[in-house]
Amino acid sequence: MIIARSILELRKALEVKKGSVGFVPTMGALHIGHRTLIDAARRENDTVVVSIFVNPTQFLPGEDLSKYPRREEADFKICELSGVDVLFYPDVSGMYGEDEVRICAPDLRGYILEGASRPGHFDGVLTVVMKLFNQVRPTRAYFGKKDAQQLALITQMVENFFMNVMIIPLDTVRESDGLALSSRNVYLDSIQRQEALKLSAALKKATEMVMRGEVESNAIEAQMRRILEPLEVEYVAIVNRAFQSLSQVVIGDTIVLVAARVGTTRLIDNVWM
Ligand code: AMP
Repeated sequence: MIIARSILELRKALEVKKGSVGFVPTMGALHIGHRTLIDAARRENDTVVVSIFVNPTQFLPGEDLSKYPRREEADFKICELSGVDVLFYPDVSGMYGEDEVRICAPDLRGYILEGASRPGHFDGVLTVVMKLFNQVRPTRAYFGKKDAQQLALITQMVENFFMNVMIIPLDTVRESDGLALSSRNVYLDSIQRQEALKLSAALKKATEMVMRGEVESNAIEAQMRRILEPLEVEYVAIVNRAFQSLSQVVIGDTIVLVAARVGTTRLIDNVWM
């Protein structure tokens, strides 16, 4: 595995590679969710590139940028053992300069749900993904459905800017008790970890209700909020794949989402129906 710490090193590493390139952008502290993306990229491409970059522009002031978990050595090992060809590990000065052009998230879809809780977050996400895509020039790029709104906005950016990359979405990987894997789970102590199960429990309830024939979003959201108590809920939402609010669930075109705080840790989860 080649570790490229600058754009120049990345270019050098990639110029000798032939065929398709599968790309998995991450912020590190890799877990099985990331592994699933890397494994899919490995199966479907000649060359696999993973980036690890804790992107400052997607963190709002007061968020966990400085304490975001960093696991350089373990992450390098995981990538190596997963058959990654090139690990792109740039520093902030290699990615950003002064007073730069930025990508703006769309006014509506970029400022609801995650975008309402974290205004400007998606500008940072889209900007860094654009920069990474332009450097790596992937054939396919792999993203988790866990970050459903991010996935939708990146897909939209690729369409809107006529970018030549296939976006491949993959299902959320969970612990055996239902907790969605996340790099932020390391912030949870054992009691909080139990509390965090309320997110997946609420989504399971939503799925059960729909399977029993309940389609009214209000009824489903009310039940979910009951299960989420006493967590500080930021939102419970039922939307279609284009992130438009749904008053009734439409099977095949619905995402049920939740964001809540467990202690000071902000967790998100969702289920696709
Ligand atoms: P992050 O390192 O949190 O920026 O995530 C990098 C990629 O991994 C994103 O596309 C995430 O959606 C994806 N991801 C994070 N957690 C999971 C999970 N539990 N299952 C599947 N994909 C995930």
